[in-house]
Amino acid sequence: MSIVSARQGDLLRLSTLFVRTLREDPADAEVASHRLLVRAGYIRRAAPGIYTWLPLGLRVLAKVEAIVREEMDAIGAQEVHFPALLPREPYEATGRWTEYGPNLFRLQDRKQADYLLAPTHEEMFTLLVKDLYSSYKDLPLSLYQIQTKYRDEARPRAGLIRGREFIMKDSYSFDVDDAGLDASYAKHRAAYQRIFDRLGFEYVIVSAHAGAMGGSRSEEFLAKSEIGEDTYVECLACGYAANVEAARTPVPEAVPFDDAPAAHVEDTPGTPTIDSLVDVLNERFGRADRPWQAADTLKNVLFRLTFPDGSTEGIAIGVPGDREVDVKRMEAAFYPAEFAPFGEEDFAAHPTLAKGYIGPGALGEESASKVRYLIDPRVVDGTSWVTGADEAGKHVIGLVAGRDFTADGTIEVAEVRPGDPCPNGDGVLTTARGIEMGHVFQLGRKFAEALDLKVLDVNGKAVTVTMGSYGVGVTRAVAAVAEGNHDAKGLAWPAHVAPAHVHLVATGKGTEVFEAAEKVAAGLVAEGVEVIYDDRPKVSPGVKFADAELLGVPLVVVVGRGLADGMVEVRPRAGEPEQLPVGGVVAHVV
Ligand code: ATP
Ligand code: MG
Ligand code: MG
Ligand code: MG
Repeated sequence: MSIVSARQGDLLRLSTLFVRTLREDPADAEVASHRLLVRAGYIRRAAPGIYTWLPLGLRVLAKVEAIVREEMDAIGAQEVHFPALLPREPYEATGRWTEYGPNLFRLQDRKQADYLLAPTHEEMFTLLVKDLYSSYKDLPLSLYQIQTKYRDEARPRAGLIRGREFIMKDSYSFDVDDAGLDASYAKHRAAYQRIFDRLGFEYVIVSAHAGAMGGSRSEEFLAKSEIGEDTYVECLACGYAANVEAARTPVPEAVPFDDAPAAHVEDTPGTPTIDSLVDVLNERFGRADRPWQAADTLKNVLFRLTFPDGSTEGIAIGVPGDREVDVKRMEAAFYPAEFAPFGEEDFAAHPTLAKGYIGPGALGEESASKVRYLIDPRVVDGTSWVTGADEAGKHVIGLVAGRDFTADGTIEVAEVRPGDPCPNGDGVLTTARGIEMGHVFQLGRKFAEALDLKVLDVNGKAVTVTMGSYGVGVTRAVAAVAEGNHDAKGLAWPAHVAPAHVHLVATGKGTEVFEAAEKVAAGLVAEGVEVIYDDRPKVSPGVKFADAELLGVPLVVVVGRGLADGMVEVRPRAGEPEQLPVGGVVAHVV
């Protein structure tokens, strides 16, 4: 859904504006942006992770959208608009119908045909271009939309920051060759820098993990914030910055066993011991004739993951053995004592286990050296499991402490610790947290191959198109701007995304203040200024001032007591008041 842009020169009268400010924090709000956006009457919760936008909120959203749209248009991307409700087939073709697992909202029509509410639109864009384009002459092409996405997030939180319905700007680039993709990627990256500069973020661009989607280069734009869910490492000496997920798994594909990062033992209180994990494994999934035991011959191991619903692929760092284990990273890897293959009966008996580890055998000493690094273990039944295959297609299972994993399977604990050496030089890494605001991603040919998007090249030969995918969290940005711009009294919007430019307050019993304020309002609006005018006749000055601070418009103008002397007060939301002659206000603001 796209939002109409804010109209210039609007006058919003608080006597009639559809807004109710609240003095109390909403019970479910953990972070300031969530608390304040609800209290100031910008949004209301409709269901967990699903919000209704009220007039003031909608105006901020429209301004954020406008900035995003301008910068996308400026790099020549063209706006389109897809449905959110989509058929299953394209997502089936790329494997994402199952890969998304429980994160996908699925539904059926009256004929029992499967549909989904799109979590992202790579498939649809790929098919659209395939539909209409057939020659290298048509490329490069970048398309974008600003659209509602649906993800049944395991843990919707922090209001708009992690919603289950949210607005994303997603764009996709189409090129004939790698150099073209690099150029499209660079353009998007630069556009994102302009977008986040304009939104007033303090942000950092970090290398991100490019694994599961099969791409090569990937970076995230993180708004620096303690409440962010992403941890990144930064080298202040050389500027290297990476999401710890990327720092943890330097290459998405195979990492040779011997290149596996060294690990350290650390006896963290409360961490399950390897033995206790073995017990759990045996209790849950063990067979008397094939007990599980810690794989004391394994060293650093990578596991490819597949879960019962087919949802996940990834990596985990396994480990015991004569080398030391980093218990913060992962507890252990296990294999059955006997190297007998798993059979269908194992899966019938334990439906939560992944089919992925049906294999000819478990991991032995010999194949250990060929096992590859993996990422993104999953929580199944409250326990984090990984399964893996070595190069020979043999399979192992690993069990890791739940502690280090969020419910949606991401690892929260940094493998890299403050003080670790920078991989690029002599510097030292520090860690910090951020909110993922945007993501630029070289998809390469994965989607084009799966959906057969080819064009004829200059020699008339059919070549597979190479793609990039680029996302900005638009509703998340509203919250992140609020998160970075508030104080104890309320929001404090940067001017270019504020719902209005001026918050005009009339205080006093006499009609003259209201008459004078009306004139000021009319004068401002005539100059194109957007004004919230507190014209409520029976509301006390204290309440009006508190509301002005809560709403967070950058400039407050008070027509009140000073009017007897022909003066009004003008004060920045977070600054010192100034007295001006009433006739000079418009000129001062404009
Ligand atoms: P996250 O790591 O926070 O779950 P993501 O990597 O899954 O985000 P992408 O698929 O890269 O998200 O989507 C592009 C952008 O959409 C993200 O950078 C983020 O700004 C936004 N976004 C993703 N999930 C949500 C959500 N649940 N609520 C609001 N915005 C979101
Ligand atoms: Mg996500
Ligand atoms: Mg992410
Ligand atoms: Mg992302």
